Amino acid sequence: MNPDLQNLKELQAADREIARLSQEIASLPRRVAVIEAKLADSKGRKEKASAAIKAGDVARRKFETQIQDLQLKISKYRDQMLAVKTNQEYKALTSEVEFAQQHVREAEDKILEGMVAAESLETDLKKAEAELKAETAEIEKEKAEARLRTEIAEKEMAEWKSKRDQVRATITPDTLRHYDRVLKLRGSALAEAADHKCSACQVMLRPQVYNDVRTNEQFIICDSCHRILWYDPARDAQPAKEEAAVPAEAGPTNV
Ligand SMILES: [Zn+2]
Repeated sequence: MNPDLQNLKELQAADREIARLSQEIASLPRRVAVIEAKLADSKGRKEKASAAIKAGDVARRKFETQIQDLQLKISKYRDQMLAVKTNQEYKALTSEVEFAQQHVREAEDKILEGMVAAESLETDLKKAEAELKAETAEIEKEKAEARLRTEIAEKEMAEWKSKRDQVRATITPDTLRHYDRVLKLRGSALAEAADHKCSACQVMLRPQVYNDVRTNEQFIICDSCHRILWYDPARDAQPAKEEAAVPAEAGPTNV
């Protein structure tokens, strides 16, 4: 095999690993961020439920005071009723008592409504607190895991980078320039030639080009996508040299 071609394949393997590892390293803080967002949500729901419960307590105390005041008024009216002289005065006090009693009932209803609401708020609070606890534990675990995995990935990446530098030093500068340009443009710079096609862009190769690629001895680029072509000799049922003498061999590979 052409030494450049062999080295380019090693370079491609290193570049792929480096790309994969940098993606992995970048994805780790994102996983932590997802749990952090859930954590903030649970915290918000917990605070909201707590505040609503507190507000409910304040309102309940207000209604209780109101009831006490109204009951004081009612007993005062009743005392006055004992001392009235006219029917008209009696009627006026009776309607005051009824009015106050109506207000007492309204305040009692409000207290009851508040108690029902408080039950559901307590459930919300307990749920948010449990979630918060679980998420806090999860985030600590996830952070530790992310730190560890980042460390491992960074170490692996450093190894691959040094491997890449070593391989790059062995490749002809012109070849390297072409490789870098196509890699930047297309995400990969090498393509396997198979079934008379460039396996990356699927364009048919001229028979002469395909035969040249199959020797793996020349630096040949795909006319269409400009990737550097290589051939896997394992694809041949028989050695490439004898292929020309066995015409039937082309049959099954053509599909
Ligand atoms: Zn191509």
